[in-house]
Amino acid sequence: MSDAETRRRSWAEPWKIKVVEPLKMTTRAQREEAIASAGYNTFLLRSEEVYIDLLTDSGTSAMSDRQWAGMMLGDEAYAGSKNFENLSEAVAKYYGYRYLVPTHQGRGAEHLLSKMLIRAGDVVPGNMYFTTTRLHQELAGGTFVDVIIPEAHDPNVELPFKGNVDLAKLEEVITTAGPARIPYISLAATVNMAGGQPVSMENVRRVRALADQYGLRVMLDATRAVENAYFIQRREAGYAEKTVAAILRELCSYTDGCTMSGKKDGLVNIGGWLSLNDAALYEEASNLVVVYEGLHTYGGMSGRDMEAMAIGIAESVQDDHIRARVGQVEYLGRKIMEYGVPIVKPIGGHAVYLDARAIYPQLTQDEFPAQTLAAALYLDSGVRAMERGVVSAGRDAKTGEHHYPKLELVRLTIPRRVYTQAHMDVTAESVAAAYDARAGARGLRMVHEPKYLRFFQARFEPL
Ligand SMILES: *Cc1c(COP(=O)(O)O)cnc(C)c1O
Repeated sequence: MSDAETRRRSWAEPWKIKVVEPLKMTTRAQREEAIASAGYNTFLLRSEEVYIDLLTDSGTSAMSDRQWAGMMLGDEAYAGSKNFENLSEAVAKYYGYRYLVPTHQGRGAEHLLSKMLIRAGDVVPGNMYFTTTRLHQELAGGTFVDVIIPEAHDPNVELPFKGNVDLAKLEEVITTAGPARIPYISLAATVNMAGGQPVSMENVRRVRALADQYGLRVMLDATRAVENAYFIQRREAGYAEKTVAAILRELCSYTDGCTMSGKKDGLVNIGGWLSLNDAALYEEASNLVVVYEGLHTYGGMSGRDMEAMAIGIAESVQDDHIRARVGQVEYLGRKIMEYGVPIVKPIGGHAVYLDARAIYPQLTQDEFPAQTLAAALYLDSGVRAMERGVVSAGRDAKTGEHHYPKLELVRLTIPRRVYTQAHMDVTAESVAAAYDARAGARGLRMVHEPKYLRFFQARFEPL
């Protein structure tokens, strides 16, 4: 980044506030009681017990006045809703895919895709796992193999495109398993679990070329592809003068379809979709969606929700919007770095990730450092973050052992268009306070472990 760029105070929000929602302040004693009854899992806190909620950017964004107006235009016909047509047009225009299957959210699309394409014994290479994505691949009988560049596992390596696919590793996975056992390449942009790190256009182009060489499909997890497009505009040669919308179209053009959680970049509280270019595959998906989600012209969504998402998609690719969105994340990240707190570098697109392993060197992963830090942060100020470490990684489907990810992180995820710069300041101050108290951290013990996606509902006790 140039000096001119870092000096420019241009991320200021391209909107003003019309409706406000009061926040509740709590006392330390109240928070102690709340986190204990939540089993030291921030997912189990009641929203009313939270001051600044950075648990997730999923479904937590603020809709615009236009989106709310669109809600009144809901065509709730069971079949052939006008809002489905508007949504299809928006996805075709901004993402460029031919066919659209609406789903209730991203994992609904992942379920359909995995069920259609994955057979028992298949291997799915991808640039770092995502929780729901990998679980659906496994439930369909596949094995996920990580092919992200090795630097992505090190929080201290500063690379502009730390989400990139390691092409040599990908080719090795393809030739070892045999192309017939690879249902598709699972490409994420940006990579959530690596800290919101983008892939470069160059890398995606090469993934496409490799896929073509072996006759494979590339399926994009487009959940945060707009943020990825913005990083390409900022960091990759040849893209500075292109719009984020044009970059997004090009990115998607190298893939055969996508799964999408509209709850992230799509600026809605619920919704998602599966996009495909292949007519036969669409035929199958539009049949399968009827079994699990709903008719192919609404999936799991109401007409008004499809309308809000169609409008949200158009708003999400505006350069001013995305600059302010990522700018706010950068603002928080820089502020936390100024306090000397170790975070994943470079700062990602949707969140700041605290390096819990570096903050609590006295704790082993079996003592859940990131889970411990998230609880400590809540206790300090009522700021809610979430664990992205050994708890989120779950257990190996075959051996039953914990996955021990290299990254043991606490994610401070910024909802879109919700919080102000002052909220970011308070958050950074609280992170600094938790960091100052780091020597006293003792860790946690898991006392309840759900079978699937345990991080959502697991319970802990202090050691
Ligand atoms: C949230 C998310 C999903 C799943 O989407 P849901 O709408 O939560 O079901 C898939 N991939 C990534 C990268 C995500 O962040």
